[in-house]
This record gives sequence, structure tokens and C-alpha cells, in this order.
Amino acid sequence: MSELMRDGWHALDSQTVLHRLAVEPAQGLSESEVALRRQRHGLNTLKPRRPRPALLRFLSQFHQPLIYILLAATVITAALREWVDASVILAVVVLNAVVGFVQESKALHAIAALARTLVSEATVIRDGKRRRVSAAELVPGDVVVLQSGDKVPADLRLLTTRDLEVDESTLTGESQPVPKQADITLPPDTLLAERLNTAYASTNATRGQALGVVTATGDRTEVGRISELMASAEQVATPLTRKIHHFSHLLLTAILALALATFILGVWRGESAFHMFMAAVALMVGAIPEGLPAAITIMLALGVSRMAHRRAVIRKLPAVETLGSTNVICSDKTGTLTENRMTVTRVLAGGEVVEVPGAGYAATSWEAASRPALRECLRAGLLCNDSRVVEREGHWRTEGDPTEGALLLAASAACLDLALEEQRHPRLDTIPFESSHQYMATLHAPAGEGPAVVYLKGSVEAVLARCDQVLDAAGATIPIDANAIHGAAERMASDGLRVLALARTTLPPGRRVLKPGEVARGLTFLGLQGMLDPPRDEARVAVRKCRNAGIDVKMITGDHALTARVIAEKLGLGPVGRSGRPVALTGRELDTLGEEELQLAAEQTTVFARVTPEQKLRLVRALQTRGHVVAMTGDGVNDGPALRQANIGIAMGITGTDVAKDAADMVLIDDNFASIEAAVEEGRGVFDNLTKFIVWTLPTNLGEALIVLASVVLGTTLPVLPVQILWINMTTAVLLGLTLAFEPAEPDVMERPPRPPDEPILTHDLIMRTLFVGSLMLVAGMGLFELELVRGASEAQARTATVNSVVMMELFYLFNCRSLVKPMRAVGWGSNPWVFVGCGAMLLVQLLFTYSPVMNRLFSSAPMPFESWLLIVLAGVAVLLLVGLEKSIRLRHGMGGPQRAVGSAT
Ligand code: ADP
Ligand code: MG
Repeated sequence: MSELMRDGWHALDSQTVLHRLAVEPAQGLSESEVALRRQRHGLNTLKPRRPRPALLRFLSQFHQPLIYILLAATVITAALREWVDASVILAVVVLNAVVGFVQESKALHAIAALARTLVSEATVIRDGKRRRVSAAELVPGDVVVLQSGDKVPADLRLLTTRDLEVDESTLTGESQPVPKQADITLPPDTLLAERLNTAYASTNATRGQALGVVTATGDRTEVGRISELMASAEQVATPLTRKIHHFSHLLLTAILALALATFILGVWRGESAFHMFMAAVALMVGAIPEGLPAAITIMLALGVSRMAHRRAVIRKLPAVETLGSTNVICSDKTGTLTENRMTVTRVLAGGEVVEVPGAGYAATSWEAASRPALRECLRAGLLCNDSRVVEREGHWRTEGDPTEGALLLAASAACLDLALEEQRHPRLDTIPFESSHQYMATLHAPAGEGPAVVYLKGSVEAVLARCDQVLDAAGATIPIDANAIHGAAERMASDGLRVLALARTTLPPGRRVLKPGEVARGLTFLGLQGMLDPPRDEARVAVRKCRNAGIDVKMITGDHALTARVIAEKLGLGPVGRSGRPVALTGRELDTLGEEELQLAAEQTTVFARVTPEQKLRLVRALQTRGHVVAMTGDGVNDGPALRQANIGIAMGITGTDVAKDAADMVLIDDNFASIEAAVEEGRGVFDNLTKFIVWTLPTNLGEALIVLASVVLGTTLPVLPVQILWINMTTAVLLGLTLAFEPAEPDVMERPPRPPDEPILTHDLIMRTLFVGSLMLVAGMGLFELELVRGASEAQARTATVNSVVMMELFYLFNCRSLVKPMRAVGWGSNPWVFVGCGAMLLVQLLFTYSPVMNRLFSSAPMPFESWLLIVLAGVAVLLLVGLEKSIRLRHGMGGPQRAVGSAT
């Protein structure tokens, strides 16, 4: 192989390209050649991009107004020669940045790791055979087969194209797909966006097919060269963290003003400027929940890994939050709600209906030899087919689209020899199945001098519209009675069978290419095959859970309305409380509706059949206009827009195209509806835990601020110093607050209605509780300080008592916060051992804070006598009991807690 060029492949004709890359397109490379080239060129992966250098990310931790204030405080205290205070504040600032940095890195890591679990694959020709390999294994010279829906796996010089269109927006920003054309040679200076004979890594094939040869891999691809410029996909800011950022900025401004006012007031009253400065700093440090955004990111990242355990891979962090308020799920039928294990059970051919005996795999042959129409119908299903039967560990199984696999098995059960038929009728060309046109057609070489045969299969509507005659029982063609066939198809569909219609036609000999126009009319109808696809048991359970949770489940399918309704009924999607089939609408009916009508219909209908991707998009929009938070599944190449529009776009991990996965917020590893339900459940749990954390942390900030304010107003010495407040906030957030992240979802999360998306996190009740607990902290903290002083303690001892009492109240209050409405005992003691570990650790560090000489020096604390602890624990227990009492009063009087009781949704 001659030296690889860096560029310019578009300026060569394809023969020269192949020659330079030393490959024969029909044969592809040999595995040994691939191994050699891999040694030279390495894997086809981009070297991991570091989104931002670690140092920058660390420094950005300091880029917060609060930190600026603390840094200013450091400088001023240093100028006043308060060396210990200055260094402690500085140390805390640095420590805070380190903790924030580590947490953020962990979250980023977790998300990046998940993204990597979704490797993409490519179809290559090697050693003369097609095979699927991981895209990372491609080398220059590999011959790649590109299908609509595939991500282009490496830079390719196209060899043949067939209606190929590529979405190059990742590379050129151009959002319209570009039609490609292999058989041209372009001037060397053609711009990237205009090179019609090449396809570049990271772009998506949105239509057609192509064959191409790999010209560059990994970092030598166009995208590899510009990867530094590409916006990083990691997104850690979510609507919630943004809201909190905004909130703390507002708070900061308010507090700055307040602090300035207290400072001026104090100095004017004759207090020392230093004293007032410290009070102002304490006020600011105390009142602002510094750790909140980091804690939320951590909790969301934890949610991501929990969801991954339940087979739902989150691609965008905000999705975790949104999942909690999802109230409509629009799900595919085939493979998601059903098992996608198809078996042909009934065939209509030559005017007769035949029940297929036994399951397809068994060798039970059934009499087809003497029925020419039946035989031809089965042959069509066998030849117009891209699936395979393979033997694995002694079992025969099908590979590829299960719908097509079922057709293969039906034919082989009727003693048609797969290998022999394929050999007799070699395939020349294919129009692949796409749900937008609902058929697939194949062109086969004639046996001898006869005409070329075209077989076509697809939905009843698509096929019948193309047929004007039909094969009768004896194998002769007679005029078609379309109504009778529609009737027969509907009878099959109303038994829940998925119906495929089959047809054939002939073309003059010598034809090697098949065009859609050639199968538009004049075909001969061969028959129908009806297949059974049982609903998934887990899906039925999950549907029930969703309905209990006030989430509407809708089925969206390309299948026949009757089939879909029967399956929907079996899944429990029928009318609530009554038996019977759910309301269904077809895509065509949807198109006749005006905007308003569509919105109503979208809400009231359960089954949408024969729906195209564009109609999916309209449905999502209609539901969103009515205020719904919509999760929508998709797998096809055209589902991208609907997935992006949906609040949660969900792609299928197994059957989904790369395009769909790219557009999705979440990918289902097992394609199973039950995993969506599980993700929603986790999402609700995560949101609950976030709320718990916020409700736990805010009263402390309030309490601390109130204590400082009170002391300024009353003109007493400060009951807590700024460094002590920093100490409390830092240690309790990590040791106590974060343990709430490990709180399992409460058993009834799926029995509540979804959270309205515009509902504030802090409902009226939770605000009242925050005020209540904050005032308790003020009373206890301030009271203890004065009491200790009266009892003859030193100022340092009295402050230590105040610090310990705030921490102890937080510790006991943590147990209240394990559930927002339910009493403590309902939560269960063993469900979250981390709470106890955290509390133990917290007590330990408080003992150090109180008794270790080093800490005494750093934080101006002092050992306290034993009796003081009694009062401190008493304060903690008081909070625990009072909040418990408050909760039980609310529950008893049904004062609609933050989580409303089971809704009227069921
Ligand atoms: P869904 O995935 O929602 O079941 P599809 O779009 O896959 O819907 O299928 C719609 C219809 O197209 C089916 O009812 C069937 O008649 C037909 N069909 C499905 N798969 C194929 C295929 N591989 N070849 C030809 N026709 C198909
Ligand atoms: Mg399908």
C-alpha cells in the first residue's frame, strides 16, 4: 500500500483510490491484512478529549462571588495580623474548591463512562463476507456498507451510492442532509461541505445506502482533526442547578446589602470595625448554601448510575431531573411493549387460510408442496428477507429483524430449502424496508432466459395498493378482490397478529437495478402471513405501575390499528376500570385534524397506528402544548426530530439506529418498556432526595444567619465566628447531607401523581418547615451561648457549645428529612446505613473540634464540660420531636403535604 495521503481523496476516481488503498471492493481486506494495518494506524477511535484542562476546572471553583468575599476576608484579616483566622479561612476556601473539584470530576467521569458503553458498530466486507464489527476496529482500506440510520464510522471515499443522504451538521453545521454521489471526481480544492463523493466520520446517513472505502481513521479523520474545536457534549448544569445558582446570586446580593448595613450600623453605634467586619463575613458565609450546586450534581450523577443498573443509560444529565416529572410516555409497540419474538401462525394464500402447526423452529413440516400459491407466498417471504438462520451451541436461531426471521422459519418449516432457494434466485438489488414507505422489495436474477423476478413484502395497505391480480390456489393469476383481502387481513389483525402481505412481479431480463417506480403497480398478490408477538410480561406490570403513578402510557406503532389495539388491551392499556379495547387513531386520521383537535386527540387516544415519524413529532408537540412532560421512544433514522423535541427522548439500545441514539437523552439497553418505568421511578427518587437535601440544608443557613443578625442587633459578642460557620457548613454537608443521596426511593414514589414541572421545589409546607427549624436553631444556638456565659464559661467555650448545638440539631433533623411527609419510623432503620456512618463520623469530628488542642487553636474552640453536652443533645432531640409532631399534624389534617396523596389519576 502506498503512503496514505492526508487529504484529497475526493479528487481521485474510485479506481485510483482502491488501487492506492490496495483493496478489492467485492473481497475487502483479509483479516491478516487488517491486523497489519491496525498495527500501523491504530484503533479507529478519537483520543479522549479532555473537555477542559483540570487546572482550569479547579480554578473555576474559585470563580464564585462568595469565594471572592472569602478571599477578601482572608486579605483583610491578614492585614489585621489575625494570622490564624486568615489561614483558616484560606484553607477552607481551598478545601472547598478541592471538594467541589473532586465531586465535579467524579460526576463528569461517571457520565463519560456511560457514554462509552454505547459503542457503535459498522458493517464491513472482509475476506469476501459481510460482517458487523465494532467501529473502533476499522482500518484504512476497509470496505464499509452504509445504511440509512448508520453513523458514518470513519472517513470514506464512496464507491457506490443509492439515494444516499448524509446529515453533516456535526461537521459543517449544515442542517439539511446532503445527497451524495460516488461516481464523480472533484477538483482538489473542493470545500469539505461540497465533497459529494466522500462521507466523513461522525456524520449520519439519513437515507439510502452506499458502499465506501475507509480513507482515514481515528484522529486522522476530519472530525479527529477539528475535535478540539467541537463543543464538549458534557453538560453538568441542569435546570435545577441553574435555578439554584441564580437563587444564591440573588441571595448574595441581598446579604451583601444587609451585611453592609449591619457593618455601617454597628460602626456608627461605636462598635469596633473589626468586630463588625467579622459579623458581616459570618452572616454571608452562614446564609449562603455554598455546597448546594455541587451536592445536586453529585446526586444526579448517582441517579445516573442507579438508572444504568436498571438498564437505562442516561446521555444527558438534566434528563435525570426531568424523568421525575414525566407524565406521558409514548412507547413503540414492537420489541418494547412486546417481546419481538415473532412466529408465523397463520397464512392466507390462494384463497385459503392455513394455520401453521407448532412453533416455527420444530421440523414439523406442513403440506405446502401441493399448494403452489402457498409455496410462492412462503418463497417470497424467504427471498425478500435480510435475516439469517444460524446455529449457535446446537440451537437454531434467527439473526436480524425478528419479523423477517419468522418468515424464514415459516418457509423452512414448510420444507423450503433456504440455501437452495437463495442459490437458484440470487439477489441483484434491494429496496430496504423503511417504516415511512412500509415495504421491502428484492430483485432476483432469472433462472435461465426468463424474466427477472421481484418479490415485495410489506403492510397490507402498501402491498395491496400495488397489486391488480392475485395467485389462485392452483397457481394461476386471476383479478384481485381487494376488499376480500382487506377483510381477511383485518380478521388476522383483530386476533392480535402482525400481518405482512407478499407480492411479486417480473422485469425484463438483464435488469440489475430496482427502482421504487418499478414496483408501484401491476404486481401479483401472493398472500398474507400473520405472526404472533406476545406482549412482555414485565411491560404489563410496568404499565400498571405507570398508571398508578398518574403517567399516561401511549402506544405508537407502524403496525395495523387492530393489531395494536389487541396488544394494547392485553397490556392493560384499555379504558381504566372497564374492559375493552383502547381508543385508537391512525396516522392518516391524525393528518385530517386541525391543531386544536390534534391536541385533544393526542391526550385522549391511547393507540396511534400506522404512524410516520413526522406524525410522531406532531404528537409530541401537541402534548407539550397541553403542558405535558413527554417521554418518547424511537429507533428509526427519521425519529431524530421527535426524540429531540420530546422532554425525554428514548432510543433503543438493540434495534435503535445510531441516529436515534445520538438524538436521545436516554438509551434502553434491553429495549424494554419496563426499563423506562424503572428510570422514571429512579428519577422520582432522585428528585425526592434532592428536595430532602435542600430542606435539610436551608434551615442551617437560615439559623446561622439569624444567630449572627440577632447578636448584631442585640449588640452582644458573636456566638459563632466565621471560621466556625465555615466549619459547620463544610463538614455537615459532606458527612450528613450527602448521605441522603443514598436514600432509596420511597416505596410509594410510584403511587403519587407526577410532579408538575412548574411546581417550585420548596412548596409552602417546606418553606414553613425551613422557617420553623431555622428559628429553633436561632433559639437554641443563641440561648445556649448566653446560658453558658451565665454559667461562667469562657467565650470560646460558649461558642463551642453553640457550634455543637447547631451540628447536633442538624444531625437529628437529618432523620426527619429522610422522608418529607412520612413519619420517621415509616422509613425503616436499615434502608440507608450511610446515614448512621455519617452521623458517627460527624460526632467524631465534633469531639475533635471540641477537645483537640490543634483544632482549639485553629477554630478558637475550647473543651466543654460534660453537662453542656446534655443540653446540646436535648436541643437536637427537641428538633427531632417537634418536626415529627409538625409532620404528624399535617398528615392527620390532610394539609396536602409536599407530596400530595395518591391522586385521582387511577
Ligand atoms: P412497528 O415497529 O411499530 O411494529 P413497523 O414500521 O416496523 O412498525 O412496521 C409497520 C408495518 O410494516 C408492519 O405492520 C408490517 O406489515 C410491515 N413491516 C414490518 N417490518 C417489515 C419488513 N422487514 N419488511 C417488510 N415489511 C415490514
Ligand atoms: Mg419496527
